[in-house]
Order: sequence, then C-alpha cells, then structure tokens
Amino acid sequence: MLGNIHSYESFGTVDGPGIRYVVFLQGCPLRCKFCHNPDTWDIKGNNKLVSPKEIFEELLKYKNFFKKNGGLTVSGGEPLLQSDFVLELFKICKENNINTALDTSGYIFDDKVKEVLKYTDLVLLDIKCIDKEVYKNLTGVKLDNTLKFLDYLKEINKPVWIRHVIVPGITDDEKLLTKLAKYLEKFKNIEKIELLPYHTLGVFKYKELKKEYPLLGTKPLSEERLLIAKKIFKQLV
Ligand code: SF4
Repeated sequence: MLGNIHSYESFGTVDGPGIRYVVFLQGCPLRCKFCHNPDTWDIKGNNKLVSPKEIFEELLKYKNFFKKNGGLTVSGGEPLLQSDFVLELFKICKENNINTALDTSGYIFDDKVKEVLKYTDLVLLDIKCIDKEVYKNLTGVKLDNTLKFLDYLKEINKPVWIRHVIVPGITDDEKLLTKLAKYLEKFKNIEKIELLPYHTLGVFKYKELKKEYPLLGTKPLSEERLLIAKKIFKQLV
C-alpha cells in the first residue's frame, strides 16, 4: 500500500490543534477558483510514493512536540481520493496513540470514508460556500456530498472544525455568510469555525503549470471585510 504524496510539513500549526505533522496528498477532484495548490490536483502529478509505515516512522521523530493535542494531519489536494492509504496510516497512528486529523472538502463520501472516520479524531471540513449554484461555479463540483458528510459527522458525534475561505466578490457576500452561519448552528459537534481570508500567494504556481488563474485581478480580502464576516459568525474577540 503506497500513497502518492505532494509534500510534508514537520511543525504545522494551522491545520488542527497543537503542533502537527502534516502530510499533503496528491489528487483533487475539485477545481476551486481560489486554490493556491493547483500542483496537488493531478493524482499522478508528483509520483512520490510512500507507505503508511514510512510516514509513521518519520512522524515519530516529532512525537515529543505533539504534547497533549498535537499529532498527524492529512490534507491535500483531497486526501480521501486515497482513502485506503489514509485508513492504513490512521490505523497505525491510533494503535500508537497519535491524534489524527483529516482535512477534507467532504466531496468523497462512501463506506470506505466512514471506515476512515472510525480512526479520525478531528475533521477539518472545508465548506467553500453554502449556496449550491455558487459552490458549483466556484469548485466545479456539487455541494451535496459535503452536506451529507457533515450530517454523518453529526450522527456519529465526530468533532469538526469548519473552514471557510472568504473570497472578495464571491463568498464575502453577507447574505451567503449569514446563510452558512445559520446552517451550521444546528451542528453541536462543530467545535470551531475558521474563516480564512482569500490570498494570492499561490498565483505563481498557475504560471509555472501554464494554467490560467481564474481569479486574476481579485485582491486579497481586506481586514474590514474579514471583520464583518467574523461578526456574522459571532467570532469577534
Ligand atoms: S479542495 Fe483544496 S486542493 Fe482541491 S481545488 Fe479546492 S482548494 Fe484546491
């Protein structure tokens, strides 16, 4: 069993709680217009094949830094495109008391994914937009599975952090943000909502890949707009 890996981060602090070893997997069925990692899209793009055991042995080097709530995060791309691999990796981690977090769009939702969730401590669920049409336009795929995925996480009472990228002129619309905030209210298993301001740091990758950047001319989200969004989600500190 081998996974196709894009990259690693040894001391991740933004993909889940504590210090985390983050593994980014190749492959994604979505085409988010704001994506800053288009180099992860092609599942065969990197061809760095690694076994779950090799990754586990590598992350053990950092175990002392994990302390109470750190651990492993698997991200992408869309990691559940390689759900067999994630399953094996998470199983090894749980056998060894390593905390596991799964960063996903929720687009792939089947029995194998349900199996993966048995070994997942925390799901970081990226909801790109709550409006079906805007979602389709923004990502190229349907929203339905993501919402089913979230329903299932509620059913099994799995802790979730929601992540939502706010793109000026698209998802910074106050009606859309209010609709999403209201929608999420009923999910008591949601521990945190992370509002992520759109940035343009990945634009150079499109040039390297000779791809057209879909949001050319869109400026990074302003502090002011982020503050408005935070107020809507009552996250003001
Ligand atoms: S799900 Fe993530 S990796 Fe895939 S296209 Fe969207 S932002 Fe990029």
